[in-house]
Amino acid sequence: MVVIGSINMDVVVTVERMPLPGETVAGGSVHQIPGGKGANQAVAARRLGAPTALVGAVGADGFGAVLAGFLGAERIDTSLVRMEHGPSGTALITVANGGENTVIVVAGANGSVSPARVAEATIRAGDVLLLQDEIPGETNEAAARAARAVGARTVLNLAPFRAPSPGLLAATDVLIVNETEFAELVEAPRADAAAIAERLRAELTACNGQPVGDVVVTLGAQGALARIGGEVLALPGRRGPVVDTTGAGDCFCGAFGASLAAGLPATAALERANAAAGLAVGRFGAGPAMPTATEVDAALS
Ligand code: ADP
Repeated sequence: MVVIGSINMDVVVTVERMPLPGETVAGGSVHQIPGGKGANQAVAARRLGAPTALVGAVGADGFGAVLAGFLGAERIDTSLVRMEHGPSGTALITVANGGENTVIVVAGANGSVSPARVAEATIRAGDVLLLQDEIPGETNEAAARAARAVGARTVLNLAPFRAPSPGLLAATDVLIVNETEFAELVEAPRADAAAIAERLRAELTACNGQPVGDVVVTLGAQGALARIGGEVLALPGRRGPVVDTTGAGDCFCGAFGASLAAGLPATAALERANAAAGLAVGRFGAGPAMPTATEVDAALS
């Protein structure tokens, strides 16, 4: 499995409640936790057992060295993680009691992941390519087209939302979005699960007029809805303690990609993804909160 995407240091502060604009509140604790959607999804996939290569960049700063070390320790192939001049991608995250969070992302080195980098990756027929939206959009389109050309499958997590180019959408096999991103994708007000399911049953076009095929909409505590091969299915949310929802969507995407790469049909891959993400929200942090294959097997049994 190949992930082309972002690598960030998440600087996480816990607070009892979010500050209002202009207000100062005392934080509880501060943590530096490896994150970034590309890295998180690669970790989720690797922990589920998929050999995973990550194409990306970190900065030539203290964060960069820590991030590269963390990914290597996770047994991710980091031979295509470059160290670039300037700062590493950095996310400033606040987590309030109850798990609510806010995130500000500074792209840093992730902005240097240009279309030229796609040629460095070895993508083979039968591979799964996993993409997100924290690197330049042209790179995603070049990567999806290259993967398609060799017979690999492409999974695109449109997060944070950016209107996909028609070329990118046309080269995407499975699109994964959360409720907010779905509303932006189809240019409709944010809807409840019933209305989203209704929408998935009808003809779907994206904001750029391009038809949308297989799509998964994650619904937080309510699980996910998916349209796969024209069939609409609902995956109920898993019950358990919620500690920190940061990276829940990344866990879902990484686990889904890894399960597809392992040869599971899309519906079984979705069940695994939903179970994995349900476990991840019970732990603090993003990358380090991703569950292992054994833990997901136990949750599903
Ligand atoms: P994102 O993190 O991208 O906003 P969601 O909040 O939709 O994505 O969460 C992604 C997945 O994580 C969900 O489909 C579900 O499997 C799991 N999940 C998220 N929040 C919860 C929760 N409170 N309880 C159980 N599972 C959750």
